[in-house]
Amino acid sequence: MKKEVRTRFAPSPTGFMHIGNLRSALYGYLFVKKNNGKIILRIEDTDVERFVEGAVEVIYSTCDQAGIVFDEGPREGGPYGPYVQSERKSIYLEHAKKLVETGHAYYCFCDKERLEHVTFMGTKRYDKHCLSLSKEEVQRRLDAGESYVIRQNIPIEGESSYTDLVFGEITVPNKDMEDNILIKSDGMPTYNFAHVVDDHYMHVTYVIRGNEYLSSTPKYNLLYDAFGWERPEYIHLTQIMKDETRKLSKRHGDANFDDFIRKGYLPHAIVNYIALLGWSPKSTQEKFTMEELIENFSVEGLSKSNSIFDEKKMAWLNGEYIKELSFEEFYKYALPYFEKSSIKGRYDYEPFARLLQTRIEIFSEIPEKVKFIDEYERFPSEKYENQRFKIDQELAYKILNSYLENLEKLDFKEDAWKDKVKEVVDLYQLKQGAVYSTMRWAISGVDVTPGGFVEIAMILGKEKSIKRLKQSSIWLKEDLGK
Ligand code: GLU
Repeated sequence: MKKEVRTRFAPSPTGFMHIGNLRSALYGYLFVKKNNGKIILRIEDTDVERFVEGAVEVIYSTCDQAGIVFDEGPREGGPYGPYVQSERKSIYLEHAKKLVETGHAYYCFCDKERLEHVTFMGTKRYDKHCLSLSKEEVQRRLDAGESYVIRQNIPIEGESSYTDLVFGEITVPNKDMEDNILIKSDGMPTYNFAHVVDDHYMHVTYVIRGNEYLSSTPKYNLLYDAFGWERPEYIHLTQIMKDETRKLSKRHGDANFDDFIRKGYLPHAIVNYIALLGWSPKSTQEKFTMEELIENFSVEGLSKSNSIFDEKKMAWLNGEYIKELSFEEFYKYALPYFEKSSIKGRYDYEPFARLLQTRIEIFSEIPEKVKFIDEYERFPSEKYENQRFKIDQELAYKILNSYLENLEKLDFKEDAWKDKVKEVVDLYQLKQGAVYSTMRWAISGVDVTPGGFVEIAMILGKEKSIKRLKQSSIWLKEDLGK
């Protein structure tokens, strides 16, 4: 372990937080907490075209909700700032010029047209054309104000290796690496350059990031070497996939933290789920508090193969966390979804909420689950049929009518209505579930309800409940041709 454990989360401000990025931040956070280190937030905003207003706030609000706390960053401050790359612009150019002086980089004046056709050693990439320009010519063209970039000068001979803490030894022949642009024509550095300079000056000892950088890391190491700086350790993380072949991406609209929050996931359920996507604890434990994640996290547990994002699993985990909330907390999260539902403002939400807390996995299920309050339409009588309880339509009809007998005179109380279920159970020698299932269909007419038959009746009220039951009996009678 390096003396001082320092890592960084270095997102580009794109306006959303991809689940994969959040996972990198999380692993960085767990790693430093476990090892008494520090984590920095650095904003990588050198791609001016991609800059989105308010994006830094999105990064912070996501990390705040996720419980990831930075030690240094634009908001926190710190000794090695500024922590926003666009505010460090002059450092990069100055350092690129140093590399030009030592022959590790060079000015390139090639225009778009030339670059479109250029090939090198059999592949389509830059051919080091401008490397052969004389010092005088370079100066003359710079003085004339010609547009230029600065490129890294990668040797053609030999190979470059490093040891990744997850993937082991990585070796790339130098001839396979292109002369990357370090400084763009707008004077801004590329990611390929800026992050190396920043990681050095921010004293980053461990770089934790997605494995799309695994094979370009040797180029970055050549930059460290050229400056005479110590290389950091690398921890590259596998990808999160939508399925076997596709990466989870923004394009699928299913990959952002905010989207999941809007769907009604609890922040910690997302954190817990993504922690396990690419890292395995030693045990089979699935639910972890942040403290437990910190305690159990280890680089050895990081996976070498991509993981598939399984939203069903995350929903299940969310449901488990929902059950553990206090009712007050549950109600606070649920309220906006009631407000979006068809019963908005017309019913007391609390009895629904009490029923729903153990019956939903994500909050966005709420509007669907309360729909039956207003919507009661004729439904196919086959819906009563239930193999498990051996109910056919004929039996359903009998159950329903027996239940309706003298129902008006019965106390409209949960207990009384439940006792009546038992009477019908005894009458036909059935399982309780058989009567409940029949009655639930009769009173709701839908597949999904927030509770069982009697709970639903209590919410609907006596008059509406009996009216619906009578109506179902009429429909069933018709369908049976009686
Ligand atoms: N800005 C880079 C990205 O978002 C950071 C990669 C890194 O952590 O080095 O992909």
